[in-house]
Amino acid sequence: MKVLVVGSGGREHALAWKLLQSPRVQEVFCIPGNGGTARLERCRNLALNVSDFEGIGRFALVNNVALIVIGPEVPLAAGITDYLQQQGLMVFGPSQAGAQVEASKAWSKALMKQANIPTAAAAVFTDAAAAIAYVKAQGAPIVVKADGLAAGKGVTVAETESDAIAAIEASFAGQFGEAGYTVVVEEYLSGQEASILAVTDGKTIRPLLPAQDHKRIGDGDTGPNTGGMGAYAPAPIVTPALMARIQQEILEPTIAALRQQEIDYRGVLYAGLMITPAGDPKVIEFNCRFGDPETQAVLPLLDTPLDALMLACVQQRLDEFPPLSWKPGVAACVVIAAKGYPEKYQKGLPLRGIAQAEATGAIVFHAGTKLKQNQLVTDGGRVLNVTAVGEDFKAAIAQAYAAVETIEFEGMYYRRDIGHRAIE
Ligand code: ATP
Repeated sequence: MKVLVVGSGGREHALAWKLLQSPRVQEVFCIPGNGGTARLERCRNLALNVSDFEGIGRFALVNNVALIVIGPEVPLAAGITDYLQQQGLMVFGPSQAGAQVEASKAWSKALMKQANIPTAAAAVFTDAAAAIAYVKAQGAPIVVKADGLAAGKGVTVAETESDAIAAIEASFAGQFGEAGYTVVVEEYLSGQEASILAVTDGKTIRPLLPAQDHKRIGDGDTGPNTGGMGAYAPAPIVTPALMARIQQEILEPTIAALRQQEIDYRGVLYAGLMITPAGDPKVIEFNCRFGDPETQAVLPLLDTPLDALMLACVQQRLDEFPPLSWKPGVAACVVIAAKGYPEKYQKGLPLRGIAQAEATGAIVFHAGTKLKQNQLVTDGGRVLNVTAVGEDFKAAIAQAYAAVETIEFEGMYYRRDIGHRAIE
């Protein structure tokens, strides 16, 4: 069968790569894809925009595409699934209503409250003065979040009241446009974070292996937040007993609450969790899609054919699907970014050493790359993801870094401490 993957990041390269390992998948199309998907065998990039729903639908119908997988949140929040389903296409990714779990933090909080899901206490504001008064009453540390999608930049973990107030004022002054005119102010949670990517058909929900990512740009979790600088799986902090609690206290009630609202949710529900010092899981956020870079660490361990799993979700028969099977070992993924990321960075820099990196046995998933006259050049802030699978974290991390060191481009930057917690 033919599968279409919408998106252009490392996540989408990993999805295309994994789908192509299924015996039933003949060909994968990526819209628009990147330099890595352009070079995958039996994979073709299409120069369409992810917001061109009509163009995507037309292509899929004409080419008998059996499954469309939506990578990023922006087209999901804009209703790509609803549109393509109306054309009779099979789509892995929630409807626009379902995508609100990520696209509106206020909506998501209300859902969690309704379903009694453990999360930080919060209040929602549509004017700055009331939000500031709330911050003064609560005290710091406290967290200020723009309601809508802000590419990971809409959250301020404020150490002081004045930082929180500054974040509120900036949000209402239009720093995030429409996304920031509603603000969620929430209780600060301490602990360790974990990412649970779960697949669902809207009735049954099954977690993939737990992962952890590194959000800050600098070693030792310092500096500004990024889209993610590395990840590893399975996260040791999520023991089988804790996973059972997450399933029972978070994943199942969330799906039940979505169903109660008659929301069609077939895709990934990503729960970003804080595991508190007492060992309790609390939801920090939901996302409506696979995590990036968690996917690049989780999928290399998956043995179950991904197309079959996704079709079981789309066709609402996940309850009959066999238990997921996983390869032995663990995976670590190191993100290589351009100099200056997450602020300003240069594009178009030639890349070298990828074949050598792959020769070490590592997998190189591309993110911000493209082919320019047959030369691979940088084309984004996060450029490459290097994943290695090993017997244990020490081995996987060492192998990932050995591969990273063969890669070269001007000003390349990566964190040197990916996975340190898994080793400790
Ligand atoms: P993402 O890029 O993951 O989509 P986002 O912008 O949607 O992020 P959140 O995941 O809600 O935002 O928050 C970003 C980060 O801020 C979290 O990963 C966490 O480190 C921190 N954070 C968010 N909420 C809290 C909280 N209540 N207490 C402590 N830290 C928090």
